[in-house]
Amino acid sequence: MSDKSSLDEEDAEAAQASQRAEPAADLEFKVFEGVRAQAADPVQPVKLAPGDSFAFRCHRGVSCWNACCHGADVTLTPYDILRLCRHLGLRPAEFLLRHTVPALHAGTDMPVAKLKMGGEDGKGPCAFVAAEGCTVYADRPATCRYYPLGLISVKLKDAERKDDFHFLVREPHCKGHDETKAQSVEEFRHEQGVEANERIDRGWIDILMKLASWRVLGGPMGRSPTDQTKQMFFMVSTDVDRFRRFVLESRFLSVYAVDPDAVERLKTDDEALLALGFAWLKNVLFNEPTVALKEDVLKQAIAKARAGAEGN
Ligand code: SF4
Ligand code: SF4
Repeated sequence: MSDKSSLDEEDAEAAQASQRAEPAADLEFKVFEGVRAQAADPVQPVKLAPGDSFAFRCHRGVSCWNACCHGADVTLTPYDILRLCRHLGLRPAEFLLRHTVPALHAGTDMPVAKLKMGGEDGKGPCAFVAAEGCTVYADRPATCRYYPLGLISVKLKDAERKDDFHFLVREPHCKGHDETKAQSVEEFRHEQGVEANERIDRGWIDILMKLASWRVLGGPMGRSPTDQTKQMFFMVSTDVDRFRRFVLESRFLSVYAVDPDAVERLKTDDEALLALGFAWLKNVLFNEPTVALKEDVLKQAIAKARAGAEGN
């Protein structure tokens, strides 16, 4: 992995052009699908506000118990991987090898890790499902927590910020919808404990949403991120050990102004490391001022730009 000094200037230039372009349309980005089966059964999503109620209950008595944990389509977020690694006592490299398959994120074509399902066709059981249910329940992935809800992030053309809303998906195999227990979206979210996931993964979701908008709007200049940038995205998204080595052992800290106390924290705090990773990716991909260059590096960059302009 090369360091920032050789990072993608082309991506940054293209991103600047993209920043200048006004969004031509409202954007909708599906963060969590609300679908677990890979087979595309027709499902009718129903949009829900936080206070809206829906009837659903999953429990061991349902005839479909564990059906949704076979052939499930579960994209793992960075925080999902962190939690599952802790739960299983594995380092990310080992976890990725044993329990994931590489995939491309549907809305953006960025490389992500999906939970590996059993069977040659991937339609078999999840490695963590047992007769009693999910054996990693306390640290199950966000997709599994949300189910049967999906999450959509929306940015209206003239709005300053994004809004999230949920939708309910009824897959035919899921009998939980026949139960009478009613709850509001808010109550369900709280019961499933999705808040921590959303808080820590927010930066990652923002990145995917912006990349999805590039696709819709054809920016920047119709190009997609380079392979090198995609590799960096995958490293930050899946392996805190690798990213920590990259920060501490490459020229990263000579290039970026990171507070010494923060550097100490990054040595042991995985969540802080993820936050830095998302900020760094936003800088690399979109040229956002989320991490600052050191003053001497900035001066050199300005001098180089001036020399280039005078040479023209
Ligand atoms: S992680 Fe748990 S809930 Fe998710 S698919 Fe696997 S067994 Fe099912
Ligand atoms: S009720 Fe739905 S969520 Fe629960 S086990 Fe059955 S298919 Fe899975």
